[in-house]
Amino acid sequence: MANANESALHYPLGDTLPAPGATLELAPGVRWLRMGLPFALDHINLWLLRDRDEAGREGWAIVDCGITNDATRQAWEQVFAAELQGLSVLRVIVTHMHPDHLGLAHWLCERWSTPEHECRLWISATDWNAGRMASTSTTGFGGDSAARFFARHGLTDPEALAKVRARSNYYASMVPQVPARYRRLMDGMRLRIGGHWWSCIVGYGHAPEHIALHCAELQPTTGDGVLIAGDMVLPRISTNVSVIDIEPEADPLPLYLASIERLRALPATTLVLPSHGKPFVGLHTRIDQLQAHHTERFADLLAACADGPKSAADLLPVLFRRPLDLHQTTFAMGEAIAHLHALASRGRLVPAPGDDGVLRYALA
Ligand SMILES: [Zn+2]
Repeated sequence: MANANESALHYPLGDTLPAPGATLELAPGVRWLRMGLPFALDHINLWLLRDRDEAGREGWAIVDCGITNDATRQAWEQVFAAELQGLSVLRVIVTHMHPDHLGLAHWLCERWSTPEHECRLWISATDWNAGRMASTSTTGFGGDSAARFFARHGLTDPEALAKVRARSNYYASMVPQVPARYRRLMDGMRLRIGGHWWSCIVGYGHAPEHIALHCAELQPTTGDGVLIAGDMVLPRISTNVSVIDIEPEADPLPLYLASIERLRALPATTLVLPSHGKPFVGLHTRIDQLQAHHTERFADLLAACADGPKSAADLLPVLFRRPLDLHQTTFAMGEAIAHLHALASRGRLVPAPGDDGVLRYALA
């Protein structure tokens, strides 16, 4: 959902973006690059951090990877040729298992491993496992199980359901492999990256166990400390928080809201590096906006359910006031179900299954 109050945030670099295949320095040893994505959301931000391994070898850490395709591999090769100052990539850190973040980790780790040094993937155990599993099976956004799940929640259009059913290798098409070995990131862990300490901050609700990275020591020109926020806090759109078919009773929205609330402990003037959109200052303002956004959505859904029970599909026009393509519809269904589950767990709605097999929700 687009942020109507984006102007309350400060973009220190204005509209400047890194050119394709190039990087922009945001703080000493912290570089920003962008890769294309074949979705409505057309780019992802990735980060290079100056690093040093345990043997004292100088190089770089990559944070997040882009999806697996030739264009992304080529863009990385350009970055390697032009931006590494002749040094190697020492490790690959991934915030979470979604395809745009984990996709090319297998290639990057292989590309930079040598007989003396294995370029390691660093990721939470939950996301490593979930990514490994999803790359070899059908989960979440396609296949029979997803189609049945969406039908249960009122998506009855046969054409849309056929497309969901047909999209059975959706994740694997962008993440064909996940490295067989990894190093585990956990909440509260401190990583020495180059000359600086970074802390891992867990976030729930968007991915199984998302890890954001905060460095209090780094002082960018604008801002106090640096937060690599992944997808937990984005300046322009709200983070996708969805229920998917593999965990049909999940209640991720309260988890997400509690996770971003914890980020308020960081300075308000932290320079936030989001995975989509531009680096910004205004962390607390953005947390306020996201909390208010979901409070409004809850109110809209309760108002819509006042004139009779509604399914998630019935509520799409209430939550999303624009036409949606199939990719967006599956995300939107997941988000609508997440809002319904949160209202049900708070005792505001109750499930009202219909004779037609569709699950609707009524005011409690
Ligand atoms: Zn994500």
